[in-house]
Amino acid sequence: MMGGHHAASGAAAWIAVASTAPHALGWYPVTPLGVVTGALLTAGAALLPDLDHHSGTIAHSLPPVTKILARITEQVSGGHRRGTHSLLGLAVFVALSTALGKVTADVPLFGSVAVGAGLLSVLLMGFALKALKIAGGPARSWLLALSLSAFIAVYAPENNDWLPVAVGLGVAVHILGDLLTHQGVMILWPLRIKRPRSLAGIPVLNKLWRSSGCMSLPLIGAAGSWREWALMVPVTVYAMYGVVHAAFFALAQWASG
Ligand SMILES: [Zn+2]
Repeated sequence: MMGGHHAASGAAAWIAVASTAPHALGWYPVTPLGVVTGALLTAGAALLPDLDHHSGTIAHSLPPVTKILARITEQVSGGHRRGTHSLLGLAVFVALSTALGKVTADVPLFGSVAVGAGLLSVLLMGFALKALKIAGGPARSWLLALSLSAFIAVYAPENNDWLPVAVGLGVAVHILGDLLTHQGVMILWPLRIKRPRSLAGIPVLNKLWRSSGCMSLPLIGAAGSWREWALMVPVTVYAMYGVVHAAFFALAQWASG
């Protein structure tokens, strides 16, 4: 799936779960501003699994930091569309973001500052800006990512667990998005259960279980296909609706004092 579509699906997932607007589930209700900041963050988190590719778009989002992180991730996760696109990878991303969310520092005048969450959100904002093609050069990407993260730090939901929730949601919808393509994902990595050759001739099954060991539900076929667009245009509209709805409520709350 294309990067911009991953980002949109992340934002839409946050809206569905965290917004209490009509057509949202409201399972994890947060303030209207928390809906906006969480949508930005989940959009970035929905690109996290593609950090497993040293020459991918995401690796170039905040140079040189993301390039170094991508090299490390690629090594640890066994290559592109392996560890970071599996259930184990999902668990590791949630555990890492939980741990980072607990890292705080006492700063004079400001009190306790969420340093770990701040650093992670700079990274995730860099990914989202790159995927949505609003990044520009490295200097502008850094500047935009840092200012968006400052906005998130100030207006983030007050609950402690929102960061792992946003990261978990983002990574899960990314894996789901790639599962819908021909290539599929190795969901049980590091287990690689290759399809026996004897099953290659069985229609449908040979599409769902690839000879590489990847699982696929190829509803959108190739990445960037018209079917991907047909699915992702409504998802993107839904994400925008949720963000605008929440921003409107936040403004109304602010105006009424
Ligand atoms: Zn991917």
